[in-house]
Amino acid sequence: MATLPVPPQEIRARFGPHLSRSTGMRLDTGLSPDKVVKTHCCFCGQQCGIQLLVKENQVIGFEPWMEFPFNEGKLCPKGIKRYLQDAHPDRLLHAYERDPSAPGGFKPIAYEAAIRRVASEIERLQSQHGHQAFACLSGASLTIEKAYLMGKFARVCLQTPYIDYNGRLCMVSAAAANKKAFGIDRAANPWSDILRAEVVWISGANVAECAPITTDYVWQAREHGAKLIVVDPRITPLGRTCDLFLPLKPGRDVALFNGILHLMIEHDWLDHAFIRDYTVGFDQVAASVKPWTPQRTAQVTGIAERLIRQAAELWGTARTSFLMHARGIEHHSHGVHNCLGAINMVLASGRIGREGCGYATITGQGNGQGGREHGQKCDQLPGARDLDNPEHREHVARVWGIDPDDLPPPGVDVYEIFRKIDAGEVKGLLSICFNPLVSLPDSHFVSRMLDKLEFYVAIDFFLNESAQHADIILPGSLHEEDEGIVTSAEGRVIKINKAVDCPGEAREDWRIIQDIAQALKRPHGFTFASPAEILEELRHASRGGVADYYGITYDKVEREYGVFWPCPAEEHPGTPRLFEPGSWNPVAQGRGPFYFPDGKARFNVAEYTPPAEEPDAEYPVILTTGRVISHFLSGTQTRRIGPLVDHCPEPFVEVHPQLAAKFDLADGDWATVESRRGTCTLKAHVVKTIRPDTVFIPYHWAGEQSANRLTIAAQDPISKIPEYKVCAVRLKKADRQ
Ligand code: SF4
Repeated sequence: MATLPVPPQEIRARFGPHLSRSTGMRLDTGLSPDKVVKTHCCFCGQQCGIQLLVKENQVIGFEPWMEFPFNEGKLCPKGIKRYLQDAHPDRLLHAYERDPSAPGGFKPIAYEAAIRRVASEIERLQSQHGHQAFACLSGASLTIEKAYLMGKFARVCLQTPYIDYNGRLCMVSAAAANKKAFGIDRAANPWSDILRAEVVWISGANVAECAPITTDYVWQAREHGAKLIVVDPRITPLGRTCDLFLPLKPGRDVALFNGILHLMIEHDWLDHAFIRDYTVGFDQVAASVKPWTPQRTAQVTGIAERLIRQAAELWGTARTSFLMHARGIEHHSHGVHNCLGAINMVLASGRIGREGCGYATITGQGNGQGGREHGQKCDQLPGARDLDNPEHREHVARVWGIDPDDLPPPGVDVYEIFRKIDAGEVKGLLSICFNPLVSLPDSHFVSRMLDKLEFYVAIDFFLNESAQHADIILPGSLHEEDEGIVTSAEGRVIKINKAVDCPGEAREDWRIIQDIAQALKRPHGFTFASPAEILEELRHASRGGVADYYGITYDKVEREYGVFWPCPAEEHPGTPRLFEPGSWNPVAQGRGPFYFPDGKARFNVAEYTPPAEEPDAEYPVILTTGRVISHFLSGTQTRRIGPLVDHCPEPFVEVHPQLAAKFDLADGDWATVESRRGTCTLKAHVVKTIRPDTVFIPYHWAGEQSANRLTIAAQDPISKIPEYKVCAVRLKKADRQ
């Protein structure tokens, strides 16, 4: 049974979200901390350096960490307030068992009893229905050691193919496109290359709110004379100051990229030598963009032809450039093709693998990069190896001390796992650091599936909305309660340092996973005594792979303020910039800088396909979703931090004045937004900074405020990312709630 034990308001009254504020020791400015811990902010993929001030096992404040090169002490509002998640009144201090008679629907139980119950339920379900009847959902905010352990736990201990992670909802379209074009999934350049770019092109990335410190790099580039092009359905804060803003109709990114490439070819703004020496497939792509005349591109994208021509000329004639994108082009049922279209523009320009010539996706989740490299993806083994590759299976099985034939086959993506719950194939679930009820599309379906589970165990530090459906809750660890490495958006591996001990009965997540393995009497491979021991094994498991971490140690990472992977040996300096001419990699073996046997990058035909659900007479408006600066992902942490909630207490719907007039909506009115899947009533923000055919809702909230009640579960056929950025809705004015 995984239904809510008591009404949601009773759960909220007991487990929150309640708001933390600076009180007690945190207000005493004269207090000397017991220690100052250099670590990183957990609230986005930038992973800014920060120093936490600790007194009596409590984080009481922070200091900037000026020496850390990425952010040099700068922090955004989330980073400044992140210390308020520690010693929080909602912190889970015990294991809990579902009990409708207990306050809030859950009663505390002894940790050991909870572990025994989890093991016996796994044993029961797997002996009755097979190993695949139990699935795991993991998280991209976990350290690399934990992410690695989760992949190993699913395959070796549970022997289930069904594990996937919440990065599936974040960067996987970019990851798949990068693998197709470059053979490797990592930002091609360190952010320092942004400073030397003549043109910075940003597509589908609300940089100032979602990757705030990157804004500083863009501003510095502009101070050096760079031109900034921003493509977005909303005039984002960065868009308000750019040189050229292209107001793209949601879901048409690939049409724009193809149109730009068409003009590059027409005007011969191409690097012929680079295309000849370092790529394959250009002719086919050139033929495919022939129909994308400026007129057709303008008609499909909704961008004036004049602006398209200006953008093409700026991009086409630049000597150096940096193209960045984020979820705005990736969260689509054709997200991979969107990214391939962007990459084609970069390859045709020849501006990659050199100083000031770059390309990157801006990773969103805390360990969004490292979390997608070492085996918690449904089809992946450590070192970015492939689960369906016999040599890769052989290598990892050897490190794990098992027969390769005992490794399960590739599994399915997270949404497909929920469909398997629906089909009765998956009956039990373990989730860690994942709140699918808020973060997956069509959340009514997700809620029904959680209810349908025979057994659900959630590991987390706060009781998130999904965990409210659990039978057992195990109290895991906060970012500052454990150590390990993560990899930032740049590809820089950095060290998270422990600042405080886990409170109460809470445990480090890797201990909990191992305790379950021990209780299942399947301890082989789960006897690590520390994250350092896990990293030691991971180094060998990743060795020789594309994501080679063999040369990475805690000492080296701390000494050098991070190490860019690949780093195949301890004496190797790491690889800040990929694809430099003459560089060596284990796939090309010296034949070229890209990660294919011939060393050449691949042009890929990027096909335009309309979104899965277009507006029509019944649902005439496009809904697009995204983030705000004050909140992080499903809001489990930031909806509990008082000053961040003060700044943005509730979701809203952004509406252009022309659209608002059609529905008689004024700024501040309540509006009901309705899709074929659900409804949401929110305050209208009437703004001129959004296209008149589109509304925007941030997605960090749960229940009746959840944008994902409206979104569609259409997925990209390659990456399986859901189409969060386009669905059809209608609006109506609502009575005040
Ligand atoms: S930019 Fe990201 S990592 Fe840096 S302080 Fe803000 S939320 Fe934290």
